[in-house]
Amino acid sequence: MTEPRPLPRRASIPILSYHQTAAVPPRGAPYRGLVLPPTRFARQMRALQALGYRGLSMRDLLPYLRGERTGRVVGITLDDGYVNNFDHALPVLLALGFTATSFVVSGQLGGANVWDAAAGVTRVRLMNVHHLREWTALGMEVGAHTRSHVHLAHCDPARARAEIAGSREDLEQALGVPVRSFCYPYGEYRDEHVEMARSAGFETATTSDSGRACRRDDLLRLPRLTVWLSTPSAYLMARVCLDVEGWRRRRAPSPAVARPA
Ligand SMILES: [Zn+2]
Repeated sequence: MTEPRPLPRRASIPILSYHQTAAVPPRGAPYRGLVLPPTRFARQMRALQALGYRGLSMRDLLPYLRGERTGRVVGITLDDGYVNNFDHALPVLLALGFTATSFVVSGQLGGANVWDAAAGVTRVRLMNVHHLREWTALGMEVGAHTRSHVHLAHCDPARARAEIAGSREDLEQALGVPVRSFCYPYGEYRDEHVEMARSAGFETATTSDSGRACRRDDLLRLPRLTVWLSTPSAYLMARVCLDVEGWRRRRAPSPAVARPA
């Protein structure tokens, strides 16, 4: 496959955050906004390719995040490890030569999104070891998303460390591949969790902070662009192509500059 067209070295990189690709639940269903019809996901991936972008897993994106490579690339992440992404997103990614990272809850391999039950969310199947082995064999990446999708902020340090480091150990043992990418459940993290992820050996960690990844960002607290059911695809493509946040930052007056009274 041809190399993506180069971007300037200082360009920021969008990392997209998806959850489910499946039939959209009825109106009023909790977290309905995180379910995307498979046809919409496919259209968005094809639009990225038409715009000259290549979708990459966090592992494949790492050289670009480190500034070792330049190119028109976008991170593709799928949180929680739903089987519906194996069924619907995987064929689309393969057809386009894209890769993606599925962030998996290591204590629920072949299980369900039980952590959402209290919010009234319908149980949805998660990939089992066989799905995940095929996922990785086909060039996709498995990342870790803790052992039980905990609120890290509610965990004591020992539990938080076990959830973060343990999820990597569990997945490496089950799948026999290196696991180097992490994602904070619910996007919640504190400085100590960042350090736990770093000392557990993760090379990147994604948050739910909204924005594009800049070269100067800590690789263990990377922002993303969440794709909602309500996100118009044209708006999403505009956010991928245009660094709106960077433009706003550069336009904002510096707080250090004294202003006339
Ligand atoms: Zn999650």
